[in-house]
Amino acid sequence: MQPAVREPVMACVALGANLGDARQAVLQAFEALNNLPGTRLTGRSRLYRSAPHEAQGPDFVNAVARLDTTLSAPGLLDALQALEAQAGRQRPYVNAPRTLDLDLILFGQSRIDSPRLQVPHPRWRERAFVLLPLADVCPDQVSTEDLARVADQPIKVLPEDKA
Ligand code: AMP
Repeated sequence: MQPAVREPVMACVALGANLGDARQAVLQAFEALNNLPGTRLTGRSRLYRSAPHEAQGPDFVNAVARLDTTLSAPGLLDALQALEAQAGRQRPYVNAPRTLDLDLILFGQSRIDSPRLQVPHPRWRERAFVLLPLADVCPDQVSTEDLARVADQPIKVLPEDKA
């Protein structure tokens, strides 16, 4: 019997880092996402710098990747967590500074509410560091009302050539 062929799904992943060379970690993560099995990077946002929001430590470098993937949503989460671990991610306490944080924001039209995975990500509409880069790669997902709601959160675009 032929194995079932899964149609690619458009997924959006938020990237964040605020330990070590955060800009480099985010740029490497774009490449690593493009190299996941059955996955292609179809869009990468500009890089942003944001003050920690419900987190600690130095400013974050943030971005959003748009992917086409034949992985399942839990399979993609497994892959994201493996990339976080490879980047040296440790979780000494909640919201600790991190070498790399990868959150699955959108997975096609899927709505998932399992103990391990909620999609769309429960807090994505409250966070400027998700909404602004998401608007770069998926402008149809972000409304002017969304952007107005987070307008007081400090964030700026990073120049391409330096952190
Ligand atoms: P964090 O430590 O902030 O990276 O949170 C990771 C935890 O959130 C893990 O236990 C995941 O299973 C859980 N989680 C739930 N929904 C999501 C999602 N959409 N993307 C990433 N992690 C998620």
